[in-house]
Amino acid sequence: MPNDRLSRTSRRPIRVSFEFFPPKTPEMEETLWRSIERLSPLQPTFMSVTYGAGGSTRERTHSTVARMVKETDIQPAAHLTCVSATREEVDAVVDSYREAGVRHIVALRGDPAGGVGAAFEPHPGGYASTADLVAGIRRRAPEIEMSVSAYPEKHPESPSVDADFDVLKAKVDAGATRAITQFFFDNNHYLRYVDEARKRGIHIPIIPGIVAVSNFKQTANFATKAGASVPDWFAARFEGLENDPSTRQLVAAAVAAEQVLDLVDHGVKDFHFYTMNKADLVYAVCHLLGVRPEVGAAAKAAAA
Ligand code: FAD
Repeated sequence: MPNDRLSRTSRRPIRVSFEFFPPKTPEMEETLWRSIERLSPLQPTFMSVTYGAGGSTRERTHSTVARMVKETDIQPAAHLTCVSATREEVDAVVDSYREAGVRHIVALRGDPAGGVGAAFEPHPGGYASTADLVAGIRRRAPEIEMSVSAYPEKHPESPSVDADFDVLKAKVDAGATRAITQFFFDNNHYLRYVDEARKRGIHIPIIPGIVAVSNFKQTANFATKAGASVPDWFAARFEGLENDPSTRQLVAAAVAAEQVLDLVDHGVKDFHFYTMNKADLVYAVCHLLGVRPEVGAAAKAAAA
């Protein structure tokens, strides 16, 4: 009997996007571009490049998106944060993205200089909040597509779920056209969050951010800081595999596939993958979603 779930994905128009971080060394750059070459034939809606804390990767983010414009046929999205920067500095980055041909910005506040958990103080000459940043970019670059963050399990700094929705609504009112969520492992958090957002008049697409976990311990640490819960049943899947990376990799693909296919069953059609600059797991999960290169491109991708 055919697997009904899989046959349904092949009939649905599933769209994917991929997030990368700017490389620090020539070796990391090689890994990144191998991953981009492997994932590009899947024709993602966009490929985004993060912006290091406090603007620490400004040049590297810029050069990575500029190279994407030149060397791929996929629209890049450049992340930009406003923490610890003046308006003029942020505006100059917006201008440089536009000059490089970038037409999509992921606009964020960024973590406070003291790190996650420290109190956020807007720069005296800077944008006061993400909504303020979104409005500033919208005025400066009306043609720019603008994505923002969303937190299905509440941002760690947020006093309440209500406050979180108010922030998202303000970002939408200022001109954001898409939200991308923090990663999560329990789909109920995402589904409830989207329902609640709709009830509150937030109607932009809210794309689930998916992380395929190849290093459970590292991801669990990161999840704690990011305010994403790690359910016991999820942790149990990786138990006993601490010294067995190859089995962990197989389990990771199975677990991520289970998560995305369940979301497909709930009608989700767009997925944003946090790739960690590695293509293999994400490529496998996309394959299961029915997202595949066109014939001919497949052989090229496998060789990359
Ligand atoms: P906002 O959406 O403005 O706020 C998030 C929540 O924090 C709000 O809902 C609100 O409840 C609370 N909050 C905000 N400001 C205050 C305040 N002054 N007082 C009390 N509560 C407040 N970080 C990077 O450095 N570079 C990146 O490239 C990057 N990319 C990201 C991409 C995605 C899809 C996501 C989900 C996060 C990303 N981050 C990145 C992390 C992000 O910068 C941090 O989570 C940061 O702490 C909040 O930025 P934001 O734009 O999400 O904030």
